[in-house]
Amino acid sequence: MKRRNFIKKASVSGLGLVAVSSTLISCEETKKDEKVVAAVNIKPIRPLVIATWNTPLAVETAAKVLEKGGSVLDAVEQGCRIEEANEEGMSVGKGGLPDRDGDVTLDACIMNEKGDYGAVLGVKNIKHVISVARKVMEDTPHVMLVAEGAEQFAVSKGFKRENLLTEKAKKAWEKWKITSEYKPIINIENHDTIGMLAIDKNGDISGACTTSGLAYKMAGRVGDSPIIGGGLFVDNEIGGASATGLGEEVLKTVGSFLIVELMRQGKTPQQACEEAIGRIVNKPGKDFKNFQVGYIAVNKQGETGAYSIHEHFSYNLFKEGENKNMPSDFFNKV
Ligand code: ASP
Repeated sequence: MKRRNFIKKASVSGLGLVAVSSTLISCEETKKDEKVVAAVNIKPIRPLVIATWNTPLAVETAAKVLEKGGSVLDAVEQGCRIEEANEEGMSVGKGGLPDRDGDVTLDACIMNEKGDYGAVLGVKNIKHVISVARKVMEDTPHVMLVAEGAEQFAVSKGFKRENLLTEKAKKAWEKWKITSEYKPIINIENHDTIGMLAIDKNGDISGACTTSGLAYKMAGRVGDSPIIGGGLFVDNEIGGASATGLGEEVLKTVGSFLIVELMRQGKTPQQACEEAIGRIVNKPGKDFKNFQVGYIAVNKQGETGAYSIHEHFSYNLFKEGENKNMPSDFFNKV
């Protein structure tokens, strides 16, 4: 069945008209279907930027790129670079907490409105890995480069090597070595990846995600953040999603891809985020008390959603000229 026909049937048969609305009018073809548009009558909210955690400057930077007519890909890249350069934030870019051996290794990925993807994994000595991920996407025939290969590629593209371990992060790691067992700490505070999604005024969507990963992880460990469908997924017809928290749990449920596919089936971004968290916490015997996962999502219409397992996940949202940090709703209310 052609998409247009399916959509008509879905609306005529009352198959969740409001829920499918965002999908319906996301499609250029269906925009012409006056009956459907009249029935739905939702004005898209654009431009829009949403990012995990309390990241006002990053979101403002991305919003400014969009307001000046820059590309949506530039917006998410420039926004994420703010956090990568922020040495105070101990989970992204320079100043990120190291692995258990004391090495800072960074992961990042980016997706554009065409569905292209680029990623780098386990990169040392290069701060702006989001920009390296973009170069992988745009300048190589590949989608993913890891470790030394990624670092060499970055240097070949003019990125400077620098020491990413700040004194503050080094001290925290040294303290952790004394008081902790030699294994990663998994609590609800030490997850602060920035995942960012943006829509420009034409409705084109891009996303980016950058992290130093789990603090004190095993050497070589990579989480969800640079993995397509895990830490980030964008489908320009539907919307995008991004994750933060314990990457292993996000990966096992392909969280960001799941959210986008749920939105494709008619769920709102909020419903989709809630279901994705449900897929984690409802696994038989899953002990979710000691780890956090949080999702953000946006659909083509500029409707947003956010949901986490525990309290204290927040996100920054720029829309209609305002940039606000918002607390996310969460599952574990007991
Ligand atoms: N999701 C990241 C990872 O597992 C961690 C984080 O969100 O801080 O590597």
